[in-house]
Amino acid sequence: MGFYVVMEECIFCRIVKGEIPSEKVFESDDFVVIRDVNPKVEGHMLVVSKEHFSDFVEMDVKLDGKMLGVVREVVGQEGFNDFNLVVNKGRVAGQVVGHFHLHILPRVENDGFSFGV
Ligand code: 5GP
Ligand code: ZN
Repeated sequence: MGFYVVMEECIFCRIVKGEIPSEKVFESDDFVVIRDVNPKVEGHMLVVSKEHFSDFVEMDVKLDGKMLGVVREVVGQEGFNDFNLVVNKGRVAGQVVGHFHLHILPRVENDGFSFGV
């Protein structure tokens, strides 16, 4: 089916399966945390659901708390104090990859990053 083909081609599904290499920082039953291939700041990471959901709204609500638990563990493990969490939901909001992911953006003084708001 067409749906099946789309799932097979999903880049983050392929990363989860290990078909495309990634630098894995952390793994739980439901999520992997990988380094972003094109980091906006040093240490930029993505919390990626192991199951395919096209965006945050589509993700199983049971994973909401687990996702934030993963964030707490990762920021502790990586040992940084300041960070932004970002979900781009939908094309207009800047979502490019149609498989749920949460950005963790570690922040340091004068890193030049800005939301422009
Ligand atoms: P979005 O704009 O969809 O919220 O963010 C997608 C993010 O995924 C971007 O920051 C982009 O750099 C990252 N990305 C896209 N393809 C790959 C990949 O193959 N590997 C990794 N590690 N990150 C990727
Ligand atoms: Zn996927």
